[in-house]
Parts: sequence; C-alpha cells; structure tokens
Amino acid sequence: MELERVPVDVIGCSKTYADGTRGLLATTLAVEAGEVLALLGPSGCGKTTLLRLIAGLETPDPGGRIVFGGQDVSDRPVEQRGIGMVFQSYALFPHMTVEANIGYGLRIRGVGKAEERRQVGELIDLTRLGGLEKKRPGELSGGQRQRVALARAVAVRPRVLLLDEPLAALDAKLKESLRDELAELLRRLHITAIHVTHDQQEAMAIADRLVVMSAGRIMQIGLAEDLYRAPKHAFVAEFLGRVNRLRRAPDAMAAGQLRLGGASFACPPEWQGQDTLFVRPEDLQVGAPQPGWGEARIEQRMFLGDRVRLKLQLPEQDPLTADVGRDNAYRPGDTVGVRVDPDRLMSSQESMA
Ligand code: ADP
Ligand code: MG
Repeated sequence: MELERVPVDVIGCSKTYADGTRGLLATTLAVEAGEVLALLGPSGCGKTTLLRLIAGLETPDPGGRIVFGGQDVSDRPVEQRGIGMVFQSYALFPHMTVEANIGYGLRIRGVGKAEERRQVGELIDLTRLGGLEKKRPGELSGGQRQRVALARAVAVRPRVLLLDEPLAALDAKLKESLRDELAELLRRLHITAIHVTHDQQEAMAIADRLVVMSAGRIMQIGLAEDLYRAPKHAFVAEFLGRVNRLRRAPDAMAAGQLRLGGASFACPPEWQGQDTLFVRPEDLQVGAPQPGWGEARIEQRMFLGDRVRLKLQLPEQDPLTADVGRDNAYRPGDTVGVRVDPDRLMSSQESMA
C-alpha cells in the first residue's frame, strides 16, 4: 500500500485554554517527511495539546499555523487534514470484528463494499493479521489489538499518523514488547508519525528524533543519542536518565579542575566557569584504589539484575551513584577507586533545579 508522506510544520503555535491555562507556549517545530518523532515530557507539559493542534482537534491562539507538505491546513477541520490517530489502549470498537474495525474509516467515507474488502485485505497482510479477520478485539492479544489500531488508522491513507500514549495503560513487560513491535511497524509503513509519550525508553525505542518538552515549551530536539550524551539543559539530562551532580569548589575552578575523592581531573576548557557538572552513573568508573584515581567508600550496593548500582561517599561531593557490571563484588564499607573521563562530563546552561 502506497502512503503519502509529508513534512509537518508547526509555526508559532501556542494554546491558551478557555479557563486561561497556557497549555502550550509559542512553539515552532519541523517534522521531516517519513520520520517518526516523539514528543516526550512529564504529564501536563503540553504534549497532547501540541498533538491536538496538529490534528485540528484544537485551535491555536491567533497567529499560529499548521502546515502539511507546504500546504497551510490551519483552517481545515480535523477530517480534512488527512491524519490517522491511535489513542491510549487503542480505543477499538469492541463489538466489531477485526475487519470491520479496520474498514470503519473507509465505510464512513462511502467507499464501496468490494473496494473496502480489497483495501482491508491489503492492510491485514501488511499488519500480519491474517486468519483473525472475524475475531473481536476482546479475543485478541495486546500485540494483535495494536496492529488492528494501526491498520484502522492508516486505512484512510493519512498523510500524518498521530499517536497519543497508546502504550501508557499496559504493564511493563507487555509494554516493552509492543513498543518494539510498534517501532518495527512504523518503519515498515514509513509514514510521518508523531508519537506522544512520557516514557523516555519508549521514545528512544520508537522515534528517530525526540522533542523533549517541559512546562508548555520545547527544551531540546534531536537524536536520542545526542540528547542523552550532550543535553543542553539539566532538565533534559535528568529526564532521559539518571545524573549525578559534581560540585566544583572555587579553588578547583581556579585550577581548571574537578575534584573527586581526593584526586583532580581535567575539566573541559569550555566549562571552566561552571560550578556544577553532571555525569551519568554508568560513566563513573569504579575499580581498585590506584594512583591517579580518587577514593570513595561504598555506602550501599543494589543488585539490579543487568547491573549493580553503588552509592558512593566521597569527601568533596554529595553521595554519587555509580552503575557497574553485574559481576562486581564490591560491598558496603569497601574503599574503592573512582575516576571520570573528561569527555563523559556533561554541562548545562541552566543550573539544576
Ligand atoms: P500532556 O499531554 O503533556 O500531559 P496536556 O497537553 O494534556 O499535557 O496539558 C497541558 C496543560 O494544559 C496542562 O496544564 C493541562 O491541565 C492543561 N489542559 C489540557 N487540556 C485542557 C483544557 N481542555 N482546558 C484547560 N486546561 C487544559
Ligand atoms: Mg497527554
């Protein structure tokens, strides 16, 4: 099935709700044709508001524009924008069969019976639902329901697919497998897709690029790897994973250094003026005490299955968290060596809230 794929431009869109709530501050965003973009952020940050503005389910404050493939759709109602939507828990029609669910959008558009059957057949193949045509949603697995929801959303050949936390209500294990399946399906459809989630793992697994949002605004946009390694804001660093704060006393700053457990480490020249730097738990190195390394005392050890999390006590810093390999045998009370590679340090323009 040939799907059209178009870029989406959000230009200067803000949303003030009737009660005065600023759901979204002035936002400009360019989504590339065929890319899967995730809108990621905590509950209430404006993800759904932005998605609904793109869909045409909400009207932006005066001056905001929504453009699909170079065409201004701001004044078009939702049914004339050419979008497909997937909602939380998929919202399938429980009394309809799989094929009736998938064909729903075609029927309300007046597509003939034979043509509906042909197109639904194609979608059944595409989403690997063969043999389940006559089943009802209640008789399907979570993965099968997800495929029906996607098939239903793309049946009308949308130019843009919008997904609002479709996986949010699932338990952790099922969520992970459906997330991977969804990532694969979106690649196969190769459609412009905007996926809303508050789950950073899900966003990283599904999307090409992430848009990290906080309090009604976009904080940073980029590839998951770039955002994780080089966040521009403390908020982004913390939201995408864990971070330790490393403090720098005035004398360490004057010397261009960072002090860790009695040892001095080079601080990247561009951050000489920062009194706080960040490092991820997996980027703190822990080993036997040795020359050139700092010393720390292990306060706590947590076996997490795929790794061991250590809480370290050091003289110049607040307690630090280090994630080390699962075979690591260090115990509370042990003295260990710690070091950090300067290129694993992170900074941010604003200080940690
Ligand atoms: P998210 O999807 O990121 O959880 P929303 O876009 O739903 O966030 O909401 C953003 C902000 O706008 C929140 O403060 C929310 O309470 C508010 N909001 C959302 N919908 C409405 C509405 N219809 N009327 C008033 N405030 C709303
Ligand atoms: Mg929401």
